[in-house]
Amino acid sequence: MTESTGRAIELANSLAALRIRLSTAAENASRKVEEIELLPITKFFPVTDIQMLAELGCRAFGESRDQEARAKIEALQRVWDWPADARWHMVGQIQRNKARSIAAWAATVHSVSSARVAAALDRGVAEARSAGHRADPLGVYVQISLDGDVSRGGVDVHQPAAVDALCAQVDAAAGLELVGLMGVPPLGADPDVAFAALAAELRRVQRSYSQRLGLSAGMTEDLEIAVKHGSTCVRVGTALLGPRPLTSP
Ligand SMILES: *Cc1c(COP(=O)(O)O)cnc(C)c1O
Repeated sequence: MTESTGRAIELANSLAALRIRLSTAAENASRKVEEIELLPITKFFPVTDIQMLAELGCRAFGESRDQEARAKIEALQRVWDWPADARWHMVGQIQRNKARSIAAWAATVHSVSSARVAAALDRGVAEARSAGHRADPLGVYVQISLDGDVSRGGVDVHQPAAVDALCAQVDAAAGLELVGLMGVPPLGADPDVAFAALAAELRRVQRSYSQRLGLSAGMTEDLEIAVKHGSTCVRVGTALLGPRPLTSP
């Protein structure tokens, strides 16, 4: 058995196990599994892994750094059977000077925390559209900080006016589409309490919008709890691809 066949089998097994985990979580929460997107987070893993996931049916992938994502996308677009309908999500913190680049490759960003970044992404989408690099608006999850430590990203949940202002700005931007809220439990926090607070914030924000907003919540360690609180997108790296190296490749 070649090394790549071994890895393909490993990924097939972990994807199957993860799908079962997600359906069980949905069932326990009396929800339909089809309403929960399983987003593989492929940061630090090679393009060969991403190709294998695509062969297993995955069509969306999350990355956390602009430079790494760009390099991988360029490489994959040269692969003859790379699916044309594959989409990329940016899940990491966004530096304003990277917004233009991100707007050229991402279908969705999960991590918008400031008006400046939202404005820069909107300008980036306009440029990407006029250059013919994209047609659709950029889907935006506004990231919420549940403990006010905004250095880890997110708008402080205790400042609802700031959350509302950023959501309204995204919703009004020609190049952006508000698709929901995203949150990560604070370090050391009880995820059950954290996701309950995030879900409550989503219910509050939802009242101002006619489109159904989503909830990007849950990772390898806590996806069941996130599903219980209404997650519509779980972002899973480790459970699918294994432990990440401590440093980037
Ligand atoms: C890396 C990352 C994930 C995946 O985390 P795992 O615990 O490996 O599943 C999810 N969301 C974000 C924002 C990440 O940066």
